Amino acid sequence: MATGISGRNIAAGSSQQSLPGSPEEMRIPLSRLDTHRDQLDMGWKNETDKKKAEETLEKMSGAFSALIESVGEQPEREGLKRTPLRAAKALCFFTKGYEDNLASVVGDGIFQENHEEMVVVKDIELFSLCEHHLVPFFGRVSVGYLPQGQVLGLSKVARIVEMFSRRLQVLSSHQTLVQERLTREIAEAILKAINPSGVGVVVEATHMCMTMRGVSKPRSRTTTSCMLGTFRDDPRTREEFLTLSRTRDSLF
Ligand SMILES: [Zn+2]
Repeated sequence: MATGISGRNIAAGSSQQSLPGSPEEMRIPLSRLDTHRDQLDMGWKNETDKKKAEETLEKMSGAFSALIESVGEQPEREGLKRTPLRAAKALCFFTKGYEDNLASVVGDGIFQENHEEMVVVKDIELFSLCEHHLVPFFGRVSVGYLPQGQVLGLSKVARIVEMFSRRLQVLSSHQTLVQERLTREIAEAILKAINPSGVGVVVEATHMCMTMRGVSKPRSRTTTSCMLGTFRDDPRTREEFLTLSRTRDSLF
């Protein structure tokens, strides 16, 4: 999909502008609950955050318990006793992108360099949840850009992908749009972070809500792309990126 946005418009003065998601909007780091089991006192910034985390976890566990009961099971039976809590922690982890913003993710990973060749980072793994069914979709992302004096540390590109994908995908009406928005968010973030002359992002994913329910179409994949700046305006640049980002092996 070619987007209607001019890369230059977005990028104008971008390095001086604030990056999306102010610290006040960021969620407290609930994803820690998944990695540190029950230990709620691991490194919380303050007592208020810790209390909030405890309350949130309790609320989520209660909701999962009600769900388990609703499907015809007994939440208190041995195998399920700790499931509501585990599921709550897992969901916190699956949505940990709400705990980051572009500035916190990129950090000091921007380098001044006169490198002018295309940078391509491909096969970045993607795991996300659709907002319609809270069912996973997963796949791979390739990101390319043409630097203008600044490059991003390679791991930072992957972290940007993770920040957006570990959130519910919003403002969309079906699978393709869910994924299109994510594709575009990644491209715009790269543009904002290092102001390259162009950015390309290709996402290839399988949506479990298509393969597990409704008209189940196993192995069906959705591919979306977003090209900004020179990647949109210059067919040769776009072609170079698409060739470099192509993978021969299949998704699974
Ligand atoms: Zn869905």
